[in-house]
Amino acid sequence: MTRMPRPCTHPSPHPAIVPPYLLARIATTDDPAYADAAEAARRSLMRDAPLREFRAEGELPSFMATERPARDERPAAAPGMAPQPDRRISDAEGADRLPGRLVRREGQPPSGDAAVDQAYDGLGDTFEMFARVFARDSIDDAGMPLEATVHYGDRYDNAFWDGERMVFGDGDGEVFRGFTQSISVIGHELAHGVTERTARLRYQGQSGALNEHVSDVFGALVEQYSMAQDAESATWLIGEGVFTDAVEGRAIRSLLEPGTAYDDDILGKDPQPDHFDRYIDTDEDNGGVHLNSGIPNRAFALAAVELGGFAWEHAGRVWYDVLTSGRLKPDTDFQTFANETLRAANERYGRASRESRAIAGGWSAVGIDPVAPA
Ligand SMILES: [Zn+2]
Repeated sequence: MTRMPRPCTHPSPHPAIVPPYLLARIATTDDPAYADAAEAARRSLMRDAPLREFRAEGELPSFMATERPARDERPAAAPGMAPQPDRRISDAEGADRLPGRLVRREGQPPSGDAAVDQAYDGLGDTFEMFARVFARDSIDDAGMPLEATVHYGDRYDNAFWDGERMVFGDGDGEVFRGFTQSISVIGHELAHGVTERTARLRYQGQSGALNEHVSDVFGALVEQYSMAQDAESATWLIGEGVFTDAVEGRAIRSLLEPGTAYDDDILGKDPQPDHFDRYIDTDEDNGGVHLNSGIPNRAFALAAVELGGFAWEHAGRVWYDVLTSGRLKPDTDFQTFANETLRAANERYGRASRESRAIAGGWSAVGIDPVAPA
């Protein structure tokens, strides 16, 4: 096990795309070229702090209650009709109040504001993949409206899921250029909502890293689905396009090659481990949820590449089966999750299937040998 040095960061209050250790790097730079970015990162870290105790304790604040308000104003779908999204995009106009002003509803034409329209389109692609591939009707599988707020905060360096909506900052302009440009980020945030309503993986330690992992898997799958990309030609990156050209990096994370997404003077090197032997034991980042997610991420990507074709059709299908199986406990660890993926593959495709072999092989390559429960 590797011990991380402890920068002065707080546990993340809500599943955010940029981990606190990365913001801390930017916040502490003394490079004058990044003065604005450092200040923006400091403010982003502070804004993320107030709710931290809820996530740290694994409890949900009241606004994250499972009970959903009744579906309002939404016509009941006619029998046999494919589910339709109900998107609502609001504009916080640089303030940190939610939800902000509603600026685009379902069916309305493009607003002309790039962030508004990117969020609208990204939510549409995410909805479509869950509906067409997994027959899931929105986050709660009951047609829940998809809500997002853009232009949140003053140069806010993050995007997060607050239990009700996806919230996107514009970035500081020096390191981050905004978070709606990457469809994998949008898919990642929405998948947190799906996890919250299915497996409810506790956002701490190994179960927290699995929570992050599930969001990275479905974030990557949404991007691949929207581009009709097969596993071999996919980038397997999360957040491609969110860095400015000044940053030496391709994205925030790589599922296939954890630890290689960036290597930059300001940001440092991507610290994600790619093998269970290098699991990072830390109190930071809710017990390393954005760090150790690299381990299951690589297992999934290796299995998907081994299987070839569209990753949502087999590996993704198995992961969705596991997420919705009712068998995961909130404190599920890596070994148990791996076991469940093998069980799900055996059940769907058969014990000697190439799917079961590829998934077992993916886990073995990262140091976890799955055993399907009897
Ligand atoms: Zn996340």
